[in-house]
Amino acid sequence: MLAEREREIYGSSGRWNKEEQEMPHSGGGGSHSGGSHSSSSHSSGGSHYSGRSGGGSGSSRRTSFSPFPGSTRYLYYKDRTPHFVYANYDIRKKNVLSTVLGIVIFSAFMIPALFSLIYGLRGAIDVPKRLTYFEDKGKRPDYLIEDDLGVLEDEKALKKTMKEFYETTGVVPAVITVENSAWQDDYVKMEQYAYDQYVNRFHSAEVYLLIVYSSENKDNGFDDWHYELMLGDDTVHIFTSKRTRDFNEALNKRLLDRGEYSVDEAISETLNEFRPKVMKTSVNTSSIILWVFVFFIFSIVGLPFLIVGLKPEKIPPEYKNAQPCNLTMVYQEACNFCGGVYIIGMHTSCPYCGAAITPHQYVRDEQGNVVQLIK
Ligand SMILES: [Zn+2]
Repeated sequence: MLAEREREIYGSSGRWNKEEQEMPHSGGGGSHSGGSHSSSSHSSGGSHYSGRSGGGSGSSRRTSFSPFPGSTRYLYYKDRTPHFVYANYDIRKKNVLSTVLGIVIFSAFMIPALFSLIYGLRGAIDVPKRLTYFEDKGKRPDYLIEDDLGVLEDEKALKKTMKEFYETTGVVPAVITVENSAWQDDYVKMEQYAYDQYVNRFHSAEVYLLIVYSSENKDNGFDDWHYELMLGDDTVHIFTSKRTRDFNEALNKRLLDRGEYSVDEAISETLNEFRPKVMKTSVNTSSIILWVFVFFIFSIVGLPFLIVGLKPEKIPPEYKNAQPCNLTMVYQEACNFCGGVYIIGMHTSCPYCGAAITPHQYVRDEQGNVVQLIK
């Protein structure tokens, strides 16, 4: 069991792995040399989108006055005369593909951006809820105080504070004091020792705040003290990374002021100070700004695709009644009624005024094309 855990803790590289899920994590620590350190941070996570070049603007639409591969000849009338244009698309219809493509590309940007924003905002707002681990199990927590150093002056008062802290937060404080040799002999860092103490004592109960204090009185009377916080993972909404940092700093400050506080007083005072604070809703403003900014960037990149796609496309009015025209021989004639010129063989009535067209006799090929006008 322990071997199994150790493998997880140290990882394949043999290094201390702080990012394990569902494992206690360090809340930092400090020492007489001044300054507390915070080691773990809850990363708010995120997604990466690798930029992909879009599928282009589809097959490009092209018109020309001379034929090109893939083109169809269209006949249209303008200024009372027939005109021909070659196009590789139906010149009478709007380009639906570019609209669809614009919407698709825009959505491809905005849907993940929107989900990221929601995910990010949810992560940026922490509403702490009292942990009910022990109530759920129908048990009461033990308040662990183990003073190997004999530095705790009033264990009763400390236990009372720990109990009050638990009742408000559901987080169970635990305090152990050890000789420096307890961890310095076998561990590279005190953090690892504290981690092992947590796992060995509380197993998978991720609701503890373990404070390990260590010291050793050297001959010259120099107090070489250290401490380390170890937090169960279920405490993350109560001990957010900022609050853990603040708690750590407050504790470190009191421990440095040994004239004012004993070790247990420093711990008690800090627990009392943070008991109401840790249950307040916290808003990570910088995280919100970051996610909104990311969303904004995605919008800026995605929006042009939508604008281009939805851009109202004007079909020239003369194209609206255009017809594909495959005639190999083209004969034209003026309407008797309005004088407009049209192509023979393409109409049963005048394309300008709708008047009946004088019947003609022509020779057609197998495809029905007029190849020769007889009369
Ligand atoms: Zn006419």
